[in-house]
Amino acid sequence: MSDIQFTKEIQQQRDFFFSGKTRDIDFRIAQLKKLKQLIMENETKMADAIFLDFGKSEFDLYTTELSIIYTDINESIKKVKSWSKRKRIRTNVLNMPAKSFIMPEPLGVSLIIGAWNYPFQLSFSPAVAAITAGCTVILKPSELPSRTSAIMAEIVNTHFDPGFFRVIEGGVPEMTALLKEKYDKIFFTGSIPVGKIVYEAAAKFLTPVTLELGGKSPAFVTAKCNMDVTVRRLVWAKFLNAGQTCIAPDYVLIEKSIETTFLQKFIAEIERSKFAVENGNYVQIINERNFDRVSAHLSGQKIFYGGKMNREQRHISPTLLTDIAFDHPIMTDEIFGPILPIISFTNLDDAIYQVKQRPRPLALYVFSDNREEQNKILSSISFGGGSVNDAMMHIVNPNLPFGGVGDSGMGNYHGIAGFRAFSHEKSVLHKSNYFEPSIKYSPHTPSRLLWIKRLLKWS
Ligand code: NAD
Repeated sequence: MSDIQFTKEIQQQRDFFFSGKTRDIDFRIAQLKKLKQLIMENETKMADAIFLDFGKSEFDLYTTELSIIYTDINESIKKVKSWSKRKRIRTNVLNMPAKSFIMPEPLGVSLIIGAWNYPFQLSFSPAVAAITAGCTVILKPSELPSRTSAIMAEIVNTHFDPGFFRVIEGGVPEMTALLKEKYDKIFFTGSIPVGKIVYEAAAKFLTPVTLELGGKSPAFVTAKCNMDVTVRRLVWAKFLNAGQTCIAPDYVLIEKSIETTFLQKFIAEIERSKFAVENGNYVQIINERNFDRVSAHLSGQKIFYGGKMNREQRHISPTLLTDIAFDHPIMTDEIFGPILPIISFTNLDDAIYQVKQRPRPLALYVFSDNREEQNKILSSISFGGGSVNDAMMHIVNPNLPFGGVGDSGMGNYHGIAGFRAFSHEKSVLHKSNYFEPSIKYSPHTPSRLLWIKRLLKWS
């Protein structure tokens, strides 16, 4: 049994929350500005750490992590006042004369658990949402990229009041101890199995959760697509971060008639992209365990393109597998690496049917210029979020709530969705004292009941 305990740290946060400081919007704005300033001052250190952790370049760090965090902070600073305002709501006839309104209030002490693949973004962006909503934050980044976790701890723990914002580093023992405590909100990003552990721990205290999980995200490519644009965008989305992106296209569903041309162009684009750490646009697989997990998909497999591996450097080159059927073993779990299975179809309805039989994906992409095909796919399959004629870029629009559905998660964030994830919408009816109709009181006569029914109809 581990003797790690965080009871004191959580109590310190609860005391801070009850002090009421976080209810002050100016306090929240000041904390957001401070966080932004600290991240800006530490950009170089962060770039060095993430490069040493898994070969991620400064360009990728900025475009896929820092830019999203800065957008979230700027958006929050600009809009937190209006998001936090009481909102007047129409009052129903039965309650008149009265006013009705919704008062957003912070949920309280929050626990945020990050994943390793975009370690800064997946830790700081939910923290920004929590601060904006007026919560206190215990942040547990992923332990796998250890240098990035250490930098986050340094940035936060030396500059923020620990009662308000604290980073706790560690792996499973620390997580197990953290999950024994009661929070007012848990926000988890990671795998489905660990998501279930978190959900179960939260259930003991009826703590609300947001679960940002993974899964197999399909990309439909039909004969009516713009082939050159499709190929360019798909190659970028699949091999960014060496395929270690929760919303990366996991597999491609291609219309049979264009498969040969698509594959030729796809390979040409991979070669043009020169994926290599030396070129600053390819990262390592995070650790040996994941290298072995991803490379196991290729053992005994007929490889159509790529398949070069170096365990010491934790590199797997962009790899294509063709002639894949839905019942192939690679179609069971999320790949989370630079291997792209291609499934061809001749009937779009059949392909849609097959996707619908599987767990609901976190993302889905439709590459087609035909409105009917786009609408058919978008409206018949349930998925977290996605795009038409692009892949992954929906995450950089802060006005689109980001999250999964079913097995890919619950709840969403970024922009106002993040504020709502850490808030409770308190609803209030403010009644006037001037008029007190007696219809709800005794004696309960038939005419009073008739009036109640009429008033309900008019409401
Ligand atoms: P993971 O579930 O292994 O780890 C996530 C967090 O949980 C880490 O902080 C880790 O320390 C902790 N953890 C690990 N094992 C635990 C256990 N047994 N008990 C308690 N806590 C534990 O996930 P990961 O490998 O870091 O990330 C990859 C997964 O995350 C993929 O499935 C990917 O799709 C998903 N993901 C989802 C999103 C999203 O926004 N939906 C974003 C990134 C990654």
